[in-house]
Amino acid sequence: MSKPRSVIICGGGIVGLSTAYYLAREGFKVTLLERNAEGADSCAHGSAGYISPSHVIPLCAPGMVWKGLKWMMSSRSPFYIKPRLDTDLIRWGLIFARHCNPSYMRQAAPVLRDLCLGGRKLYVELADITGNAFELKTEGLLDLCKSQEALDHEAHGHVALANSLGVEARVLDAKQTAALEPGVRMDIAGSVYFPIDAHITPRKFAPAITALLKDMGVKFHWNTSVYGWRSEGGRIAGVQTTAGDLVADEYVLTGGSWSPSMVAGLGIRLPMQPGKGYNLTLEKPRFKLTKSMILTERRVAITPIGERLSFGGTMELSGHSDNVRPERIEQIIAAAKFYLPEFTDQDFAGIKPWFGYRPVSPDGLPYIGRFGRHQNLTAACGHAMLGLTMAPISGLLVSEILTGRQPSVDLAMLNPDRYA
Ligand SMILES: Cc1cc2nc3c(=O)[nH]c(=O)nc-3n(C[C@H](O)[C@H](O)[C@H](O)COP(=O)(O)OP(=O)(O)OC[C@H]3O[C@@H](n4cnc5c(N)ncnc54)[C@H](O)[C@@H]3O)c2cc1C
Repeated sequence: MSKPRSVIICGGGIVGLSTAYYLAREGFKVTLLERNAEGADSCAHGSAGYISPSHVIPLCAPGMVWKGLKWMMSSRSPFYIKPRLDTDLIRWGLIFARHCNPSYMRQAAPVLRDLCLGGRKLYVELADITGNAFELKTEGLLDLCKSQEALDHEAHGHVALANSLGVEARVLDAKQTAALEPGVRMDIAGSVYFPIDAHITPRKFAPAITALLKDMGVKFHWNTSVYGWRSEGGRIAGVQTTAGDLVADEYVLTGGSWSPSMVAGLGIRLPMQPGKGYNLTLEKPRFKLTKSMILTERRVAITPIGERLSFGGTMELSGHSDNVRPERIEQIIAAAKFYLPEFTDQDFAGIKPWFGYRPVSPDGLPYIGRFGRHQNLTAACGHAMLGLTMAPISGLLVSEILTGRQPSVDLAMLNPDRYA
């Protein structure tokens, strides 16, 4: 019998953990490196928890250049870019702008659909395997529109595109929306309902999958940082870490928004920006919701997570800065009150905001695949706003790449060398 091939996974967020699962299932000898302690915070922990096949439109949507330019000037807007002279940001912005057109959206949307539907299917399987330890709920998602103009815009754009791709989307008026979600009064023109969307309790996913991985024999190196690589003849010969040099047959890059800096020493250019997002969670909300909601014009996400209610969102490109901008938190609260007028400032009093850094690629698609110049190094990063949705399918794809099987999703547009 041949020896099992060994893999080192660099980064233990939701993508790294999911990748470890699909590789261990294939019989690989898996080691996972994570610079934080077991159970520490990661980007998915404070996320909205959406598993969202409805999100078929990339962030670089048509019209986003002008909208983005307008928004970036104000730190109160849903999409804020802190003005600064940063060549990585400028390069990222130029690639982003190049993709904000209908033709690119038509190419990217089916890939996003396949990744998100693939992710949803795998979450159902993982829920089954773990006894639904992370509380998967398949209640769908409502995109609430405050104005008739926004509802018409959604109906002609998002709804038409989603339905054409086989992702069911229904336009509802205010009364039909209230009948679907009677738990709170909404002041809206209507909504779009996506029955296929689902959500989980994000903080319960990592412990559930970590327990599974331990049973499968995955070796963990917590509190271990990757700081360099040894490469020989177009292959990675070892990874340098704070726990010493480690060696394997294959290496996987799952460092989220830190991925570019992790491989910079190899001369790899991976355009990506950390996209900061905030979350406010009400422990004992006065209103009980069953469905997740997006406040469309304000880009705020609301999720019923167990007994709690999470409000999150905004996209801020200001680097890896721990600075919490109060005006962005105020905008989340203002949006909640604007669409759901029974909420008051009192509901949010004393809540400590959480923030995380989404790994935002400039074209709305993740980097998944082998690097051309380092054949045993595979990327699974850059998932932006959909990293939770796409984590399991990304892990499955990595396992298919490493075993040489036909990938479940076409990888052509996900090539990590596409901006090399
Ligand atoms: C407010 C908010 C709401 C969101 N809502 C949703 C949602 O509803 N649905 C959805 O699909 N997605 C959502 N997302 C996006 C999603 O959370 C991310 O895309 C996803 O969590 C990224 O996972 P990751 O594993 O790639 O990165 P991370 O979670 O950032 O993991 C990377 C890991 O690598 C480790 N690391 C970094 N450098 C090193 C090093 N040198 N050595 C060792 N380890 C290292 C880090 O410590 C980290 O644990 C949201 C994000 C935010 C911020």
